[in-house]
Amino acid sequence: MPSLKKYSSLSRFFDTKIEFLKGVGPQKAALLNQELGIFTYGDLVQHYPFRYEDRSKFFKIRDLHQDLENVQIIAKVMRVELVGTGKRRLVAHVADETGEMEMTWFKGIQWVQKKLPPGAVYIFFGKPAQFGRKWSIAHPEMEPLSQSAEKRNSFQPVYSTTEKLRARFLDSRGISKIMEQLIQVCLPHIQETLPQDLLQQYQLIGKQDAVREIHFPTDPARLQRARKRLKFEEFFFLQLRLLKMKVTRTEKYRGQLLENTELLKDFYENHIPFELTGAQKRVIREAYQDMKSGKQMNRLIQGDVGSGKTMVAFICMLIAISSGAQACLMAPTEILANQHFEGLKEYADMMGISIALLTGSVKKSARKGIHEGLESGELKILIGTHALLEDVVQFQNLGLAIVDEQHRFGVAQRAKLWAKNENFYPHVLVMTATPIPRTLAMTLYGDLDVSVIDELPAGRKPIQTVHRYDKDRLKVFGFINQEVQKGRQVYIVYPLIEESEKLNLKNLMDGYESIARAFPNYPLSIVHGAMKADAKDYEMQRFVKGETKIMVATTVIEVGVNVPNASVMVIENAERFGLSQLHQLRGRVGRGAEQSYCILMSKYELSKDSRVRLETMVRTNDGFEIADVDLKLRGPGDLMGTQQSGITDLLIADLSKDAPILTLARDAAQQVLANDPNLSQPENAPILRQVRQHKKSAVNWSRIS
Ligand code: ADP
Ligand code: MG
Repeated sequence: MPSLKKYSSLSRFFDTKIEFLKGVGPQKAALLNQELGIFTYGDLVQHYPFRYEDRSKFFKIRDLHQDLENVQIIAKVMRVELVGTGKRRLVAHVADETGEMEMTWFKGIQWVQKKLPPGAVYIFFGKPAQFGRKWSIAHPEMEPLSQSAEKRNSFQPVYSTTEKLRARFLDSRGISKIMEQLIQVCLPHIQETLPQDLLQQYQLIGKQDAVREIHFPTDPARLQRARKRLKFEEFFFLQLRLLKMKVTRTEKYRGQLLENTELLKDFYENHIPFELTGAQKRVIREAYQDMKSGKQMNRLIQGDVGSGKTMVAFICMLIAISSGAQACLMAPTEILANQHFEGLKEYADMMGISIALLTGSVKKSARKGIHEGLESGELKILIGTHALLEDVVQFQNLGLAIVDEQHRFGVAQRAKLWAKNENFYPHVLVMTATPIPRTLAMTLYGDLDVSVIDELPAGRKPIQTVHRYDKDRLKVFGFINQEVQKGRQVYIVYPLIEESEKLNLKNLMDGYESIARAFPNYPLSIVHGAMKADAKDYEMQRFVKGETKIMVATTVIEVGVNVPNASVMVIENAERFGLSQLHQLRGRVGRGAEQSYCILMSKYELSKDSRVRLETMVRTNDGFEIADVDLKLRGPGDLMGTQQSGITDLLIADLSKDAPILTLARDAAQQVLANDPNLSQPENAPILRQVRQHKKSAVNWSRIS
């Protein structure tokens, strides 16, 4: 495991190798390197406890009972023996004034044996178990009894450690002991990283105090303040970096002036098929402000499924085109690119604007024409998949690049898009339907401006969601029948089973067959990942046109597909899906004027998390509420896209629990940058020093945007 301690706030001294620390030495150092990625003093000092234990209490041997977790016992070593042949264990018989018990070791026997001369008195710590009438603790933590140990206050840090380390007595207690050494020598070297006025304004304790307190807490209240301080710092520097990136970008990159609204007006007055929602209008205005600002736009549009992001995209394209530039829209899948193309072509044709589709399955001969059209500037709008990132795709003047469903795209691909215009980087709009909780958005997209379409088109009825067990299947089929009779269409979705492509297909095919049997008179479509793109497309199109009534599919239809006449979404094995995926799938219905339904099918036995997920879906349609539950269930590490943002490297702060501190830290970072963009004022010297250190020790963050 590489060292992830990117937010180190520590100077050269902290680069010292841990083997030079008293009580460590080369062997233990090698183990710490290997097992915990701890190489230096800096790494070790930031190996924060993950919880604390009450060690104010000591048990008497007589009082032990079955229900105890870890206990502390003060006992004297009576005698020590090796038991068994071959795989032997060491047994120390120990006693206090109330009785006798055993401490046993299966590993590290030689080492521990030396420490157990008869008569030695130790504090033993571990989970007691009863064998026959004898109590025993296997591999207890132990430390010699001393006055200080006995009087020690209640809160003991618990450090994460591993089996291998434990075998070498680097259990939590062992780590705590070397930590004691380390804190002694290193405390004076710890520099304050935040300016005094920030500390005061946000009521934060100093860095030295915080570090000492986190490892050796004196009381719960002070420990709390130490934790707050360290979390704040972590968030602060993360936010500072993101905000700084944004400032640098807006200063450095000029943007093409896109301010002509002629086409937009024409479209709006003569062609637009519906009234825009207030939220759509606001987001279009926000993007327009950027496009005519002379600076490059990098804006994220968050809008729940069905909120009408595509129309916003098209109108922004119109602004680009009437200002003499070209526009492109990139979608994550071929189906989606097709659908965008079909939808937008209708509008583009009304306006006499040329538009083309470029995906992997577009024939070579057709591509040539597209390439030429783009280079001459005749072709105004290009819709496509990753195919449009290829180097051969050159624009005369790409002014606006739109990315749909961003989370499927990597950072590197975003950079490739930028490179499509050498004079000015194109303005970039990123559209996502993944409702990201605010805390996460602040971090993930901290360097983008964010617009939110927080309103659905009028007349939509909220989707009714129910949870049904497999035994209710007949009733569910009856309901499907009823809806199809009314002229509606139905999706039935099967989960992807990651371990096995084959199993997937079987699962889906079995489902398909039973549905075909249940509805012999309805034409069905089937779409899955193993199908060729054109076959998929053909099936999809039949469903879009209403020729087929029921679409049986795997999650390939998750993103973006739009069939307003589809009013029922049945999700099979719903317990296998994540919340955001369930929400995305549900968003495929409820797009027309009819009442829509989502039916979550599951087996009867459910894990606690699965139950929470299904209940959440039944309770609410609000994507943001769902995303919050998701974040709490899964933690931020699992959410899409977080891996590349660096936020999984947070040492102590937790995005799902520490939102209030994050908000404070972001405000603070904003305030600092607003007053002193280059961090050149003397009071901000600690920040600057810290930022420079990050730069040295960490990856090149500027690459990321
Ligand atoms: P998403 O935000 O999920 O990409 P779409 O752009 O696919 O949503 O829009 C969903 C549906 O709503 C489409 O059929 C679209 O034509 C329609 N729509 C978009 N905006 C409006 C509006 N203001 N009024 C009515 N229907 C709209
Ligand atoms: Mg969409």
